[in-house]
Amino acid sequence: MRCEDQRLNMVQSQIIARGIKAENVINAFLKIPRHLFVPPEIRHLAYRDSPLKIGAGQTISQPYIVALMTELLDVEKNHKILDIGTGSGYQTAILAELGKIVYTVERIETLSRSAGKLLAAIGYENISYHIGDGTLGVPEFQPYDRIVVTAAAPDIPDSLLDQLAPNGKLVIPAGSRFCQDLILIEKVEDGFRQTNHGGCTFVPLIGKEGWHEI
Ligand code: SAM
Repeated sequence: MRCEDQRLNMVQSQIIARGIKAENVINAFLKIPRHLFVPPEIRHLAYRDSPLKIGAGQTISQPYIVALMTELLDVEKNHKILDIGTGSGYQTAILAELGKIVYTVERIETLSRSAGKLLAAIGYENISYHIGDGTLGVPEFQPYDRIVVTAAAPDIPDSLLDQLAPNGKLVIPAGSRFCQDLILIEKVEDGFRQTNHGGCTFVPLIGKEGWHEI
């Protein structure tokens, strides 16, 4: 089956069938060539309903969980977005498609560099790459309308809450090392509102305001 057909099939059977409705999210999934974001030797698995290994002990997340996190974020065209855990760059591409500018942070330099090369090659110019500890955010460019963390945190990092704009939203998997809940934090007039959107499992967020060792 051609990649375009596999992508359409993924969107219909894994994303729309499970309740994702946001048209901009669906269109971004239809457009972005997920198979380019996985190592060449497993490209034939790219549209499967599962996470996949991308090297350096890390993963590209299951398509549905990326779609769910993106829908919860509710990105608008004029938004400035902070993306923690660049990994393959797939979630970054989705965000770059939906918002104005994406600041993406990855602690593993090789992953950041190869994601940057791919995203430039397929035409994304609204992404700023940062290598380092994303639990601290990127204070120079705050505040952010939206923040997404694609690695599992023990708690919500205070630095990320501090960098949220008024009415901003943060989506983050938080909980124990091996089982987390997908949490949406909304910055409201008198503080933060927190809702839980179900169980998930991510690789650990390693850093000063994350897990302290691998
Ligand atoms: N969003 C990625 C994608 O679409 O491929 C998936 C990323 S993977 C599940 C999580 C990533 O978070 C890994 O690449 C890992 O190295 C990175 N990571 C873990 N702790 C981090 C930290 N403190 N700062 C930045 N990146 C971190």
